[in-house]
Amino acid sequence: MSERPSSSSASNPVALITGGSRGIGRAIGLAMARQGFDVCFSFVSNEKAAQESALQIQKTGRRAMAIKADVASQSQVKAMFQTLKAAWGRLDAVVNNAGIVGEPRSLMDASQDHLAQVFQTNVLGCFFVAGEAARLMSTQQGGKGGTIVNMSSIAARHGGMVNEAHYAASKGAVDSLTLAMAKELAPHGIRVNAVRPGLIQTEIHEIHGGQELLDRIGPAVPLGRVGGPEEVADLVAYLLGPKSSYVHGALIDVSGGR
Ligand code: NAP
Repeated sequence: MSERPSSSSASNPVALITGGSRGIGRAIGLAMARQGFDVCFSFVSNEKAAQESALQIQKTGRRAMAIKADVASQSQVKAMFQTLKAAWGRLDAVVNNAGIVGEPRSLMDASQDHLAQVFQTNVLGCFFVAGEAARLMSTQQGGKGGTIVNMSSIAARHGGMVNEAHYAASKGAVDSLTLAMAKELAPHGIRVNAVRPGLIQTEIHEIHGGQELLDRIGPAVPLGRVGGPEEVADLVAYLLGPKSSYVHGALIDVSGGR
C-alpha cells in the first residue's frame, strides 16, 4: 500500500477502482481525482505502474492509495476494503475495472484452469468487490449510499474475437450481474451501471496481437480508429457523479460505433 500526503482533506469523496495501475483504470483514477475524489486503487503485480498512477493522482492535489490485491481472491478483496475503511473511513464510488482477456483458445481446447482464471478475475472478482462495496455504502447498514460502475465490453453482445468465447462470456456475466445489482442495490441507495468499451488502446491486447491487432482492426471501427482510455474514463466519471442521478441499470457502449 502506498499513500503520500497531499492537500486533500478527509472530507473529500472517495473512489475505489480495481486495476487502477494501468490502462483504463489509471485513466479513471485520474478523471475521478480531477472531479474532486480521493482515489484508492488496486493492482495485482505491477508495483512500478501503481506508483506512477498514484503520482499522477497526487499531482491533481487529491490523495492516492495503491493496494496490492488480487480481485480473484475474496480474502484479498475483503482485506483491501478493510484497509481503505481504516485509512480513509468513507467510500462513495466504486469501479469494478480489473479484468483480463486470457490466452486465446478454441472451445475445443477449453480447460478448467483456463476458464477458471478468466471467470475468477472478470466475474467472481466483480461479485467480491460488489459485495464489500454494498456492505460499506448501503443506507440500510449505516452507509450513505453510492455509485458503482462495472467494466463490461462490447464482446458481451457480439461474442468477441475468434477463440475468445471465455472473455465474451465473462463480460456477458458482468452485464447480467449489473442488471441484478441495479435491482438489488437500489433500495440500499446504490446506483449501478456498466460501461462496454470497444477497442481501446491499452496493454490488455498484448496477449492477442498487441499493436499489430489494433492497427489492423482500428480502421474498421465505424469512427475509423481505436479509442483512448480517457474516452472510457470520462463516461465512467459521469456515471459515478451526480449528473447521472437517474441513470441506473444501464449498459452503455463506448465503442466508436462498433
Ligand atoms: P490493462 O491495461 O491490461 O490493465 C489491467 C489492470 O487490471 C491493471 O491495473 C492490472 O494490474 C489489473 N489487474 C489485472 N488482473 C487483476 C487481478 N486479478 N486483480 C487485480 N487487478 C488486476 O487492461 P485495460 O485494457 O485497461 O482493461 C480494463 C478493463 O476494461 C478490463 O475489465 C477489460 O476487460 C475492459 N475492457 C478493455 C477493453 C480494451 O480494448 N482495452 C475493451 C473492453 C473492455 P497490474 O498492473 O498489477 O497488472
